[in-house]
Parts: sequence; structure tokens; C-alpha cells
Amino acid sequence: SFGEDEGGEDDLEIRPAVVTVMGHVDHGKTRLLDSIRSAKVGEGEAGGITQHIGAYQITVPVDEVDRTITFIDTPGHEAFTAMRARGAKSTDIAIIVVAADDGVMPQTVEAINHAQAADVPIVVAVNKIDKEGAQPDKIRGQMTEYGLVPEEYGGDTMFVDISAKQGLNIDSLLEAVVLTADASLDLRANPDMDAQGVAIEAHLDRGRGPVATVLIQRGTLRVGDSIVAGDAYGRVRRMVDEHGEDVEEATPSRPVQVIGLTSVCGAGDTLMVVDEDRTARQIADKRNARKRNALAARSRRRISLEDLDSHLKETSQLNLIIKGDNAGTVEALEEALMGIEIDDEVQLRVIDRGVGAVTETNVNLAAASDAVIIGFNVRAEGKSTELANREGVDIRYYSIIYQAIDEIESALKGMLKPIYEEKKLGQAEIRQLFRSSKLGNIAGCMVLDGIIRRNAKARLIRDGKVVVEEMTVSSLRREKDDVTEVREGFECGLTVTYSDIKIGDVIETYELVEKPRD
Ligand code: GDP
Repeated sequence: SFGEDEGGEDDLEIRPAVVTVMGHVDHGKTRLLDSIRSAKVGEGEAGGITQHIGAYQITVPVDEVDRTITFIDTPGHEAFTAMRARGAKSTDIAIIVVAADDGVMPQTVEAINHAQAADVPIVVAVNKIDKEGAQPDKIRGQMTEYGLVPEEYGGDTMFVDISAKQGLNIDSLLEAVVLTADASLDLRANPDMDAQGVAIEAHLDRGRGPVATVLIQRGTLRVGDSIVAGDAYGRVRRMVDEHGEDVEEATPSRPVQVIGLTSVCGAGDTLMVVDEDRTARQIADKRNARKRNALAARSRRRISLEDLDSHLKETSQLNLIIKGDNAGTVEALEEALMGIEIDDEVQLRVIDRGVGAVTETNVNLAAASDAVIIGFNVRAEGKSTELANREGVDIRYYSIIYQAIDEIESALKGMLKPIYEEKKLGQAEIRQLFRSSKLGNIAGCMVLDGIIRRNAKARLIRDGKVVVEEMTVSSLRREKDDVTEVREGFECGLTVTYSDIKIGDVIETYELVEKPRD
């Protein structure tokens, strides 16, 4: 879950609770959010909350200590669910609003289900108690059926009777939120690391370009940071808060509008800071490519000469992240893996290691660096499996070291890419040109050496220079017959997948053959 798994105990600092308001339509969610916002303006908050950025923070005194709470400023559970579906945990506590004159309704139940599924503690706001038909006790009875037993009946859910319209008991509700957070959550995060957050809203602004409201979850986001959010990237040019003021840095649980992404990211996308712009771009490009790949049917790739070149030069690397149940096994596993004998072309790199469950942070890093995660005697925590599936990250679990070694070894063997060599087939000179309505330009040729083969790759040579690198002999005839090959010293008629051919041009055909490995 968010904020707790980075750095040592000493690095963790208290962060404000993040709250979402949910409930049935017309029960007063919007009114409640307005009322909380404006109650705080009345108390002379600097500038007041003037901007709808998708979230805001307020401060309340609880037991004489000023406590900050972050509110997600989108009523309803759609945003909550959308983010959860994308693996982002954006909320610590849910306020479920029930109108005292109406009672538990279908969307109330849905909201309870969402919060409970996400393991988010609930505070119940019994709203509209100013109304005549208000029956707050009846609401308490109804909610008990869904496992929400009021404290006054011996349960552990706090119920607060409010009137969003009259601004009644809003402070008690905020206090209940803080007390619930204190009782059931450990809200701490490490502010001294590169920031991570979740985009809760994003849009294209006419003047400012792509704008994303980001809720910081760990670390501190600063102006100038290189960032990636989903498949968008950029650099933080400016940050603006809910008071419309510029901010230089944002710490955990702080919502800020971030200006500087080059495209609009999605709500629920994870934002992270990377070392430099180039890395941000690479990660975003990779994610874009992955998205495209997932969409496009996998067609067999044609090998171009450039590819051939890079096949020969490229060294492959398998990146690993190792998570284990204790420091000893992690170390042992890493040593054993590094001992695997592999070809020079393939490298094995352990880019991160640690004790404990596979976290979303691990998955994000793996996605960003194309790494495979190895979990040794550990499981995936929270939403990390979901995130891994979405990002196409491979998590492999083992409890026996040699099995891990065996599998990684075979993975490395599988990574040895085939090497292709060009094998020259032959050359033919164009002696005559014919025009066919069906086939286009037909070249009457003399095979000068070797063979010309139908469907073979070909290049066009004019005055001793290659003018076309990539074409194919698409039809081949000897006399009146379609043939697959014509040998040296014979005439033939052929067409190529390039129309601007001339008498005197030479067509050279070749093929790519896989070089055997031992
Ligand atoms: P939402 O759909 O849950 O966001 O509900 P709204 O906040 O839009 O409220 C629906 C209606 O109930 C509006 O007409 C509000 O003015 C009214 N309303 C909200 N809270 C209260 C309240 O505490 N008392 C009364 N009398 N009306 C309220």
C-alpha cells in the first residue's frame, strides 16, 4: 500500500490521510466537499481554496494538534474504482455519505463494497439531519447489516450526523477521519527520495498544455524533475496548488497540478521521477510501444538490413530484480545467478534486490527497465500482480534455488538472437522494358551470374551504385512459363517491387540465412 515500503523506519515521516467521499446520488457528496472546502476558507486559510484541481488539503485541530487531511475532490466511487482498476491506491479512508431522510440505497452498498474490497477504513457521514424526515438511528441500523457497526453499539466504525447544507458537525466528521486514521493505519512515507505519485486527473489546458493533478505518495516532487506518468513524459516546469499558488516542492499526500508533461496522461497513471529527461522519454516510448504491440496483431517481422546490422552488434541483457524472504537467501540467489555461464553476447544484471514481498515499486522499476522479477519464498503484495499483468512484467516465484537457476539459464539461452548472414544469389542486367497492364514494368533480363530467384530479396544497382536496397523479385518468367529460378546465361522476364527501373540497371538477388550456433 502506499508510502510504507520505502526506506528504513527512520526515514518514514507522518503524512496526511487521503480521503474519498462516496455514496448514493443526491445524498450530498458534492455539498459535503464544498462545505469542507469553504469552512476552511472562512478560517482564513491562505488565499482560500480557489482552484478545482481534483484534490485539496485542509487542516483541523484534533486534540490541540493541527492535522492535515487530503480530500479527493471528485465525489463518487467512479474515480476511486477507475484508479483501483489501474492498480493505483489513491485513498486511505472513505467517507460514505448517507442521507438520513432516505437511507441505504444501491450506490451506498456499492460504495461500501468498493471500500471494503480495497481494504479502506470507512467513516459514515449521516447527512441531511436538518431535514424533517431525518432518521439517523435508522441509518445506523441499516449500515450494521453491511458490517459497519457504530462505535456507540460496540463496533469500530465512526458515524457522524451532519448537515452539509448548514455546515453542521463538519469539524466532528473531520475529527472522526483523523481518529479513524490513527486507529487503523500507519500513514508514513519517506519524503527523501525521488517522488512517486498517482495522477488523479489530467487534461489539456489551452494555455498551459497538458496538466495533471498528481497526488504524491512517496518522496518529494520538485520543479525541474524529469518525470514519467503512464506513457507521458516531461519535466516539471511548474506546480500549482489548490490556492492557485506556485509550489516548488510537494511532499507525500500533497496534491499538485503538474505542468510540463508533453502529452496528457491517464487518471490513475503512476507518476515517477527518473534521473534525466532521456530516461523519462525512453520509458514513455517503451510503454507506448508496448501498448501498440498489445493492440496490433503480432505480424512476423521482416528483417531489413538495418536490423541485420543491429542484430550483429547488439548485446542482449537480462535485467533481474530479486526479492527474497531474508537477506541470506537473496545474497545466495544473486551469487548463484551470477555464476551462470553464458555467452559473451548475453549479460545478466541484477538491477535491484531486497527483502520482502514484491511491491508495486518493484513492478514499476521492472516495467521501466524491462526486468524480470524473481520472488524467492515471497509473494506479491497488494496490487502489484495486477500492475505486473498490465505492464507486461514477468514475476517468477521460486522456493528452490536450483530451479531458479535452471529457469534463468534457459531464459538466457532463449535470448540468444539468431544471427543472419547475407548469401548472394546472383545478378541480372535489364536489357529491355515492357509494360504490362497487369504486372506493371516487366524487365527483360540476362542473368549475368549465379541465379535469380522468385520472391528473393533484391537490390537495384545503377552505374555501379546501389540505388534501391530493399525490393523483392515478385514474378519471374522463362519463355512463357512462371519459374522459381533462372540460372546464369539465360534470359528471363521479371518484375520487382519498385517501378522506376531502366535499361542497363542490374538486379542483384540475395537471401538472409540464419547462422548456426554451437
Ligand atoms: P451528490 O449527488 O451526492 O453529490 O449530492 P449533492 O451534494 O449534489 O446534493 C443533492 C441535493 O441535496 C442538493 O440539492 C443539495 O443541496 C441537497 N443537500 C445536500 N446536503 C444537504 C443537507 O445536509 N441538508 C439538506 N437539507 N439538503 C442537502
